[in-house]
Amino acid sequence: MKFFHHPGFAAPIGRHMVPVGKPALVAAAVRKLLPHIEIVEPTPVGIADLLRVHRPEYVEAVRTGDPRSLAESQRFPWSTELFASVCLTNGGVLAAARQALEDGASAVLANGFHHASSDQGEGYCTFNGLLVALEALRAEKKITTAAVLDLDLHYGNGTAMLASTRPWLHALSIYGNDYWENRSYRDVRARYHVDGPNHLSVPLVPTLSGDRDNMLEILEDQLPWLVSKGRPELILYQAGVDLLREDPFSPLDLGPEDLLERDRIVFEFAKREGIPIAWTLAGGCAPDIGKVIEAHLNTAMACSDTFSHAVSKMRRELVL
Ligand SMILES: [Zn+2]
Repeated sequence: MKFFHHPGFAAPIGRHMVPVGKPALVAAAVRKLLPHIEIVEPTPVGIADLLRVHRPEYVEAVRTGDPRSLAESQRFPWSTELFASVCLTNGGVLAAARQALEDGASAVLANGFHHASSDQGEGYCTFNGLLVALEALRAEKKITTAAVLDLDLHYGNGTAMLASTRPWLHALSIYGNDYWENRSYRDVRARYHVDGPNHLSVPLVPTLSGDRDNMLEILEDQLPWLVSKGRPELILYQAGVDLLREDPFSPLDLGPEDLLERDRIVFEFAKREGIPIAWTLAGGCAPDIGKVIEAHLNTAMACSDTFSHAVSKMRRELVL
């Protein structure tokens, strides 16, 4: 099994709410605890890849820093290194998606995609690597249809907007925080989203009876929608860990074990349906970065357990 990571994923933006060093920590933990997974460095996407999804004015703004308001619409301070780093993270999604078509499953250890729309960034997402990867694979004639399963805490507004003009794509976002106009809203009942035939938004309302059971039940109920119009040739899974109760944005009472169960359901679904799946990191602003790494590692372990014949060292240690 191959996952993708590159030290250049981290743009040097200094201390920031989004811990840009996190992907490197996840990669180091995977190397240590899941040594049968090979970590491979991807190559960056090019401007032609970005232009299949984003408007030329926006791509140029991120490349040059001008106009600055557009270059920083995702809320990162612009620097000369930003463009190279986001081309690499987007290249990582493409590499993982391509690898999943070969091996059944893969991952990119990077985040920052689902809020970005055609003409701007949002919510620390510069370019929508999910769509950039899928459009590149369609241009290569490797796939014709695909699905995006977005289980980040936040509603995947950018992906939904991009899906609305792409009938070949099915995008499902199950979320515990709403998101629009570059702001997060804890109350998922504050606004009703207009779904389309190929993009569906399902809010997770906090419940007294238990957020774990509610989340898993909604997930099991909604997953068949992804195959309701035929089996997609690839699933990109945004495996968010900001649903954790420790996350400053999360109103949900969920722990790492609950997200592990979620991940197992997702990977079992993909395997049962025979659909290749590539996943990305997502979320992760909890003050205790150890919790964030643990939850990401759980996704890696669930993926490995479902799709790899190797028994992970991590699993053995848990059993012993
Ligand atoms: Zn999020």
